[in-house]
Amino acid sequence: MQTLMVELDERSYPIHVGPGLIDRGDLYAPYIAGRQVMIVTNETVAALYLQRVKAQLGDYQLAETILPDGEQYKTIDCVEQIWDGLLAARFNRRATIIALGGGVIGDMAGFAAACYQRGIAFIQVPTTLLSQVDSSVGGKTGVNHPRGKNMIGAFWQPRAVIIDTATLESLPPRELSAGLAEVIKYGLIRDLEFLAWLEDNVEALRALDAQALTKAILRSCAVKAEIVAEDETEQGVRALLNLGHTFGHAIETDQGYGRWLHGEAVASGMMMAATLSARLNDLDAAALARVETLLRAAGLPVHAPEGMSSERFLELMRLDKKVLDAGLRLVLLDRLGQARVEANVDEALLVEMLNAYPR
Ligand code: NAD
Ligand code: MG
Repeated sequence: MQTLMVELDERSYPIHVGPGLIDRGDLYAPYIAGRQVMIVTNETVAALYLQRVKAQLGDYQLAETILPDGEQYKTIDCVEQIWDGLLAARFNRRATIIALGGGVIGDMAGFAAACYQRGIAFIQVPTTLLSQVDSSVGGKTGVNHPRGKNMIGAFWQPRAVIIDTATLESLPPRELSAGLAEVIKYGLIRDLEFLAWLEDNVEALRALDAQALTKAILRSCAVKAEIVAEDETEQGVRALLNLGHTFGHAIETDQGYGRWLHGEAVASGMMMAATLSARLNDLDAAALARVETLLRAAGLPVHAPEGMSSERFLELMRLDKKVLDAGLRLVLLDRLGQARVEANVDEALLVEMLNAYPR
């Protein structure tokens, strides 16, 4: 097991990473304040892991909320079910919520904890690679609103994050690859050495080698933690975490949520950003080829959806407020391992890149 401390003064917390950690009762105990514990999970993850987590918590007064599986259930109604459960069990302000599942469960359980009796403790046990490398850091919690994704929420930090790399063994390979897209992103924007390590270890990661996964997850969380610490208000460097995301969101919206996984859309978007960077002479052909080779090796798409025109991309990208604020704003690569925000992207160049990009 390895541990990374996320430094946030009195709210600092550990991220423990390694195989078999969900069975380690000693890792939960220090972060459970009172005697009352509510486990929040979904039907899929409950069938796989709930009994094992419960077996570690025999000394506590336990309650559970098992929600339906899917992004469409990331709603205030489901959070209300968690609150109902807490109230029915007469849980007080010293109760602790354990979030067992992917990002959907983590976001809802965290939001439920942020609001219940004005805030109770929660522990994240993320079970998808995406949630392990992304939602473990940053403290964002919340739900979707019919008018927009993640529109209702709060910043609320976990007391601890317990990442069991062995839980990834049951994760569909497509979901694993989608998580790898965000891992590769951290290398591309911030850490050339890590990017090179990923090139050497992408097969080991896809084969779920515990040591390789532990390193990739810890380094990803560390990069995100550094960036978030430098820019808590999301004015500057934090924008770099959006590499590939503006293109990616356009793909997700065009295709309807669910057809392309978020990580798949981001992967294709990062390839577009890299291609545009090459057209601006920031990346040479060899660097661009490295990006493509790594994304492919991770099982990720480097093409746009069939039939999605450059006009459609521009139309959807213009809806993104962050893009419009100052001309056409995009995250581009200065070189591998270093990104920047380009505030006034030449639209003609962008269209030319999109037209030439494979479908
Ligand atoms: P998810 O939570 O929907 O999980 C993906 C699928 O994998 C689900 O069907 C889930 O039931 C299943 N699953 C989870 N763990 C499994 C396991 N170990 N074995 C088998 N199946 C398993 O999706 P996700 O990709 O984890 O997270 C996406 C969500 O996270 C989005 O709602 C997004 O907004 C949010 N998110 C939040 C943050 C943040 O900072 N809070 C960051 C990134 C993403
Ligand atoms: Mg993302």
